[in-house]
Amino acid sequence: MSTMMVMRVMTPTTMTMTFSRSLPSRFHSIGVNSPSPRSSIRNIAASSSSQGPSKESPSSPSSLSALLNDPCLFRDEGVSFIDGAFSSSSSSKKPVINPANGQTIALADAAAAEETQKAISAAKRAMPEWAAQTAKARGRVLRKWFELIRQNANDLAIIMTAEQGKPLKEARGEIAYANSFLDWYAEEGRRVSGMVLAPTQTTKRQLVVRQPVGVCAAITPWNFPSAMITRKAAPALAAGCSMVIKPSEATPLSALALAELAKRAGVPDGVLSVVVGDASDIGGVMTSHPDVRKLTFTGSTRVGKLLSEQCASTVKNVTMELGGNAPFLVFDDADVDAAVADAMATKFRNAGQVCTATNRMLVQRGVYNEFIEKLAAKTEAMSVTQGLDAGCDMGPLFDLSAPSKAEEHVADALAKGSELLTGGKRDASKGSDAFYLPTVVSCGDRNVELRAFGEETFGPVANVYRFDDEDAAIAMANNTRMGLSAFCHTRDMSRAWRVGEALEYGMVGLNEGALSDEVIPFGGCKESGLGREGGVFGIEAFLETKLMVFGRI
Ligand code: ADP
Repeated sequence: MSTMMVMRVMTPTTMTMTFSRSLPSRFHSIGVNSPSPRSSIRNIAASSSSQGPSKESPSSPSSLSALLNDPCLFRDEGVSFIDGAFSSSSSSKKPVINPANGQTIALADAAAAEETQKAISAAKRAMPEWAAQTAKARGRVLRKWFELIRQNANDLAIIMTAEQGKPLKEARGEIAYANSFLDWYAEEGRRVSGMVLAPTQTTKRQLVVRQPVGVCAAITPWNFPSAMITRKAAPALAAGCSMVIKPSEATPLSALALAELAKRAGVPDGVLSVVVGDASDIGGVMTSHPDVRKLTFTGSTRVGKLLSEQCASTVKNVTMELGGNAPFLVFDDADVDAAVADAMATKFRNAGQVCTATNRMLVQRGVYNEFIEKLAAKTEAMSVTQGLDAGCDMGPLFDLSAPSKAEEHVADALAKGSELLTGGKRDASKGSDAFYLPTVVSCGDRNVELRAFGEETFGPVANVYRFDDEDAAIAMANNTRMGLSAFCHTRDMSRAWRVGEALEYGMVGLNEGALSDEVIPFGGCKESGLGREGGVFGIEAFLETKLMVFGRI
């Protein structure tokens, strides 16, 4: 904490100067927001939590901590959380940047192989005692962690919006979603049971027990900085495993705040560590270390393939939640208004930076014009502004590469004859060059020739394609190597069954756009991943099945 105290007395100007050398790597700052006096920032916090008007986004460590009820949750000094203590590597730190204004709000630790090994050793040391407790006792600790997250939900949401950019209402939603996994697995650990098999010989008895898989490693992305941590840590800890987490180095603050609350809840030292730093160094140790028995990863298909290869040398158990290319089918018999509402929700949540986000809207000829007109009108009416502003529907994209990809996909579609209905450009007047307006492109009968049809845009661009019949729609939807999520709107329930069964995806929403909650098996097939997270399915990933045979009875 002493380092943090030193950091907090630095003025915002000093902070900016101190970090400016490394700033251009992720972000081009657009202007400098002068920091507000603490009192006015407090008012902003109060008004933003009551949905009143606000104008500011944190532009320094001090302005962010001033927004929080419990500033100790905000670790701005560049630390990891290893073996129950916040510690700092000696390497030079990287800035954590608020994408809404390009300002540095904290430092991120630059931990590497040595710190990862330390965390794994601590996890190995701590696991036997944790695993030996009853599931009920572990559940009590998880329940306490849940309560602390609930009590601090507003602070956690503000920290998330500051480092990730999503609207505060979405950040609050993510904290509730993240916490639902603690709620569920605090109970679910108690329902892990084995089996006594029917004997095949009169002198033999055979039974199956479930045991924690061992020390686990988790690598999580920046788009859901809290939920991807608890979706992995809650079932792992409930099963009796210990876990070392590598959050995205660009959004470490949410992870560290969760670690602080886990410590307060009584998670023993070493059972949960958070190592912030160099991705390939940390990942290299996690995937090759013989004491790590499981890797659970959420991120891009490219990195997932790389990590899977790295895990092969020690034959680790892996769960992979990777990219998507979700189709959203709308048939002539659909309720078009409901379809437009779900299309908007699945496309523009988190500015489209969601692995389940709709990437291809496939609309039948009879309702195509009505659908695109309504979609474009509602999209144009969205409030695009800084995430802490009241009424924000969509914030900035996370970094500059995301608008670039959106720009490339839109340019490609337009060059090949598609029509831009709204958006299609950045709007730096919102606070930074990471703001890209929500966009609708009518592609008509073009499809596979467009880059956006085959690649995940991961941004707020809705490409709409036309189809004529059900078979064509299914063929178009399945024409991808991805298989995470798909959506379909129709009033014909026989068709809903048929299409639901025919879509080669891990999750299908039928007249429904919201897939995620704590009870469902979240995950994909094909190149979208391996394994499932959540519900009764999610704890399986952290259990080993052991046979014990008793002879000579
Ligand atoms: P995204 O495109 O959403 O950033 P990535 O797959 O690049 O997805 O990142 C997801 C997570 O994987 C992040 O925590 C990132 O730091 C980590 N990561 C990226 N490259 C590697 C790597 N070579 N080894 C280990 N982790 C990595």
